[in-house]
Amino acid sequence: PDPRGSAAARLVARDRAVVWHPYAAAGAAAGGPLFAVASASGVRLRLTDGRELIDGMSSWWAAIHGYRHPVLDAAAHAQLDTMAHVMFGGLTHEPAVRLAETLVAITPAPLAKVFLCDSGSVSVEVAIKMALQYWLGRGRPRRTRLLTVRRGYHGDTSGAMAVCDPDGGMHHLFTGLLSRHLFAPAPPCGFDEPCTDAHVAPFAALLAAHADETAAVILEPVLQGTGAMRGYHPGFLTRVRELCDEHGVLLIADEIATGFGRTGELFGCDHAGISPDIMCVGKALTGGYLTMAATLCTDEVADGVCASEAGAFMHGPTFMANPLAAAIASANLELLLGSPWRETVRRIEAELAAGLAPAAELPGVAEVRTLGAVGVIETREPVDMAVIQPRLVELGVWVRPFGRLVYTMPPYVTGTADIATLTAAMVEAVATASR
Ligand code: PLP
Repeated sequence: PDPRGSAAARLVARDRAVVWHPYAAAGAAAGGPLFAVASASGVRLRLTDGRELIDGMSSWWAAIHGYRHPVLDAAAHAQLDTMAHVMFGGLTHEPAVRLAETLVAITPAPLAKVFLCDSGSVSVEVAIKMALQYWLGRGRPRRTRLLTVRRGYHGDTSGAMAVCDPDGGMHHLFTGLLSRHLFAPAPPCGFDEPCTDAHVAPFAALLAAHADETAAVILEPVLQGTGAMRGYHPGFLTRVRELCDEHGVLLIADEIATGFGRTGELFGCDHAGISPDIMCVGKALTGGYLTMAATLCTDEVADGVCASEAGAFMHGPTFMANPLAAAIASANLELLLGSPWRETVRRIEAELAAGLAPAAELPGVAEVRTLGAVGVIETREPVDMAVIQPRLVELGVWVRPFGRLVYTMPPYVTGTADIATLTAAMVEAVATASR
């Protein structure tokens, strides 16, 4: 601990000299507060000045079991004693095969083949490339476009960015790079608001008009994450699946944020009982320990891909199927599936709803909503980060607002008292920031 904060200040100054942070200007121009973390365990981040923060972000959806979980630490150590990494071209290993078997077993049938890659964005690139190669293999080379909905977010690489909401702030910067895809309105029905034909009509019309050139539909099932933090009714997903079948278009489910229990079912698709042709998972896959993601597809998709002129799927990252990440991912999934995760997420959902409810009375707040272990306060105006971020830290929590969204997706191991502290701090900080 550094009670006077001088070591923290020195680290921040060194950081400002050379380090770039996400969605930030470089160096001194970055502005805004920056907090130095010394360590993390359980649901607490320890700052170098000795302060402890209850983590409300799970390191961006990933650390579902909190930090330094003994089971995951042990899996990491055991795998390190065997091998940290080997290339995956022409070689295989137990951690990769075991993880792939587990993923096939827990995701909706008939997903059957697993491509283990290194980040969520890359798994979306892989999904898009699979879809395009599938149609090449099936003799339909004109099917090259993706159809999606507004307010979606699928990652920051060029293929993934091209299916993010065009008004989300990036498309106009990269027009030379991004493919032109098709955007239907965001699902208009809230999670608890039954989906009607009228809700689906604009999506259905766009798909009908462009089916011949559409390779796949890509969606975040039941909860639009970073772009909206808003749930939508599973019935929308059911209709999308039916429409994809009607028009012979593939369905890609991006479960990178929603996967592994976050919305109250193991996967968002499970709320609707549907199966996609291709599914992306990441984030919580390794419990936040290491960067790994996966793209799963059906045998039909795999066969189509391999029927293309290339005869193989044309992708292969250096760190594909990294054994260390795969071993931790398997331990993480075993831990999750062996826990009463469904009851836990339900408890957290109820506690988030109760704790955040007072925010609805604040004049600057547009809406308060929860879905699974996700709680959101949406403000009327963008929050002032220079005000709200230090206030949240002062109140002992780590929550990272974005635009008009002050939201939390805490680790599943967060207890009732910590959820109460977390939600009270969010309400208090929003009250301060919108005063
Ligand atoms: N897809 C969804 C739904 C996401 O929420 C994210 C990240 O926030 C991504 C893709 C990109 O994942 P990554 O940041 O690991 O590249």
